[in-house]
Amino acid sequence: MAVWEVKYIQPNKYSRPQMKLNAVRKIVMHYTANPGATANGHYEYFNNLRGTYASAHFFVDKYRKLLIIPLNEVAYHANDVQQYVGGQPYRGVSALLPNANFLSIGIEMCIEKDGTFHPTTVKHAEEVALELCKKYKLDPKEDIVRHYDITHKICPKPWVDSYSGFSNFKNRLSSASKEKAKPRVFPSNVMGMITVLEDDLNVRDNASFESKVLATVDRGDTFKVYDKKNGLYNIGADHWVSAGEAYVEYQENPAYKPEPKVEPKKPQEKEEDDMLEKAVVYNSLADVAIAETLAKKLKTVTVSRYVAEKVQVAKELVVVGGKQDDLKADKFTVLSGKDRFETVAEVDKYMDKL
Ligand SMILES: [Zn+2]
Repeated sequence: MAVWEVKYIQPNKYSRPQMKLNAVRKIVMHYTANPGATANGHYEYFNNLRGTYASAHFFVDKYRKLLIIPLNEVAYHANDVQQYVGGQPYRGVSALLPNANFLSIGIEMCIEKDGTFHPTTVKHAEEVALELCKKYKLDPKEDIVRHYDITHKICPKPWVDSYSGFSNFKNRLSSASKEKAKPRVFPSNVMGMITVLEDDLNVRDNASFESKVLATVDRGDTFKVYDKKNGLYNIGADHWVSAGEAYVEYQENPAYKPEPKVEPKKPQEKEEDDMLEKAVVYNSLADVAIAETLAKKLKTVTVSRYVAEKVQVAKELVVVGGKQDDLKADKFTVLSGKDRFETVAEVDKYMDKL
């Protein structure tokens, strides 16, 4: 899920000319120079702009992070002429020559009535810039520049008046991006982890591209991977997504130990003593997180409905989402609501009593 809200302005030759960006080499920071005006106020302004050429991709304030121009389109934010050097317009960032608007993404930060940045506005700008650095493989220290650095416009003024505000911003981004890069530790039954690279990636109900589409997931979403079959990853329960490198980025779990395939036992062969007292069954992807929380509290494991219908894994099943239907157990506790939120509420209630 993207960290920002998408609210595109209408195509408009003055603000959204619908020209394609050639590349994203830098992220350019701006301020609105408009004390007290909000991100949404600027959305309205640029949506109706006439007679002057201006815009930027993002507007952030202490409330919102709005993307108002698609990331593959040009915005008019960083190719102005402030001064001439040897008869040529001053250009301080050579990577953005000849025209920064075709090679960068602009983030406008709103200012408070007193001309300062609200700390939450700065935090919002950080979240947006971090996501962009990940998406375009940019280095926060090298690839985030001020409008001032490109044309010498006094923008963003608080960070031209005081460089430390800007350098602190970049330093925080730099450490945040390194933190994200640390390898994650997963339980041994998890093969690895995927990060989705595209919006609206299909989630299918079987390990086949012909199978039914249950839902879609978005760029930036992450999932644990439990299995791989026919070019699809299993991301829990009967949910499968394409394993194509163009669609998902896969990170292997070094601690992964494949579980031996369990064959369904006939009831008379059931070995009571081996069996877990309790296990938590999750119904769908939406219930996995809360099921794992519950299992941790019960000091037991989670199993998908798919598995729990084939094999009896515990004497008692705590069912998170859905009904007990064809599940195999001696005893059931069903924690289900009519949607995932009600299910979470049921589980919370149950955990309170533990
Ligand atoms: Zn600017």
